[in-house]
Amino acid sequence: MTHTGLALSHHALDPLRNQMRGPVLEPGAPDWDRARTIWNAAYEREPVAIARCMGAADVQAAVRFVAEGGHPFAVRSGGHDFAGNSLPDGGLMIDLSLMKGIRVDSQGRRARVEPGVVWGEFDHEAQAFGLATTGGTVSSVGVAGYSLGGGTGHLARSRGLSVDNLTSLDVVTAEGDLVRANEAEHPELFWALRGGGGNFGIVTSLEYRMHRVGPEILAGQIVHPFESARDGLAFYQELMAGAPDELACYPFLMKAPTVEPFPEAHHGRTILIFVVAWVGDLERGREVVKPILDFGTSLFGSVGAMPYVAAQTMFDVGMPKGTRRHSKAQFFGEIDAAAIDTLLEWSEALEGEATAAYFEPQGGAINRVDPQATAYPHRDKAFSFHLVADWTDPARDEAMREWAREFHQAMARHATGGVYMNLMSHDEPDRIPDAYGANLSRLARTKAKWDPGNLFRRNHNIEPG
Ligand SMILES: Cc1cc2nc3c(=O)[nH]c(=O)nc-3n(C[C@H](O)[C@H](O)[C@H](O)COP(=O)(O)OP(=O)(O)OC[C@H]3O[C@@H](n4cnc5c(N)ncnc54)[C@H](O)[C@@H]3O)c2cc1C
Repeated sequence: MTHTGLALSHHALDPLRNQMRGPVLEPGAPDWDRARTIWNAAYEREPVAIARCMGAADVQAAVRFVAEGGHPFAVRSGGHDFAGNSLPDGGLMIDLSLMKGIRVDSQGRRARVEPGVVWGEFDHEAQAFGLATTGGTVSSVGVAGYSLGGGTGHLARSRGLSVDNLTSLDVVTAEGDLVRANEAEHPELFWALRGGGGNFGIVTSLEYRMHRVGPEILAGQIVHPFESARDGLAFYQELMAGAPDELACYPFLMKAPTVEPFPEAHHGRTILIFVVAWVGDLERGREVVKPILDFGTSLFGSVGAMPYVAAQTMFDVGMPKGTRRHSKAQFFGEIDAAAIDTLLEWSEALEGEATAAYFEPQGGAINRVDPQATAYPHRDKAFSFHLVADWTDPARDEAMREWAREFHQAMARHATGGVYMNLMSHDEPDRIPDAYGANLSRLARTKAKWDPGNLFRRNHNIEPG
């Protein structure tokens, strides 16, 4: 581990400590390891200190401290960045994970949330009022990084992306000022924050539009042998082409875990899992999901009524914190026979341990928004394809990353171009134009206004233009 560019002695941190309500941790502090660890264990870095902010004033103090001292820093909310940007190599981690406020206004159908909140916490509180907004499909994902990049999930096709449900944001700017961004105040900044990620400041509060959801939805998983994958993916393409917006269905290719109820004959072999969520009228949903239940001969699985908060944890077990990951993503218009051939060729013998390759359906409400209405540009895609390579042995880092790159390149022959910024890895600076698409030049102009010195550059960076 290296400490670069920062001579932050204990005493050099005093001015920051004096300005903060929350603690400033240094190595050896009892909470140090927990505070510095992020979801993806492939990034073995160590900050010099961690500023554990308790509110917007602490964030202002931290921003002024790093700006005035020229210290490298990173911003961490839920700590799920695939690219590891929230964990600095040396420098200061500005840690928002203690900022856990959630205030639901059930009459106004709005919720104000602080950036340390993760989706499981937000769903829990919002469901007390029978409400929800589009959130991540793993309950430990942070609301802040997720929402600033786009935000897909079970509700996205019917209620829009997370950026489409953001109504107002509080932001600490590069100058250390605290401003509000919404349709009326600083509308250009509001536009840029909805898809431009952490490029424009540190968000200290997010307000969302809420929707009536649940308390029960239809959800579940159906597991098929690899031999059914070709027909299963062709069936899936056709199903989603005509599916109502309330249906989210993800076909996953991954190795069957070596535990019950996965049949022993399939342990360690690639399987196809349909993960299904219907967020709408339950009776109608039963009709819509019937063809998924009737398809082929499954190994096991079911779809039934379950609490929305439980459905929001369906992916948790497959994506635990603490193993090494490399993420590669791209968009598809159609999953045609040639794309299926390539996918099966690469996934029959998946490298790594809990490696997963899956499609996430787009369309519906996502695509009814003008591509220029928010900074998130990908409004004409049918599917997002995501490969998450997973391993535990550090000696395999390079081999696993190379395998993921090659798999990704093979799939790219069938893709539309473009990439969802929140799924990018650290090795993809050349994909910045793909991530922000036609909105990149407007984003660069907005960056020049709000962060001309590119203080906030530890992200999928937009250079001031
Ligand atoms: C297991 C897993 C499941 C996922 N599922 C989904 C999903 O269903 N749908 C989806 O759309 N995405 C999903 N993602 C991707 C997710 O949206 C991104 O990883 C996102 O960055 C996570 O946000 P975070 O706050 O947890 O991340 P962090 O690592 O804390 O932050 C990531 C980056 O976002 C920026 N940032 C974070 N907080 C702030 C802030 N308060 N102000 C300004 N900038 C900030 C910074 O640049 C930071 O480096 C998933 C990721 C993982 C690892």
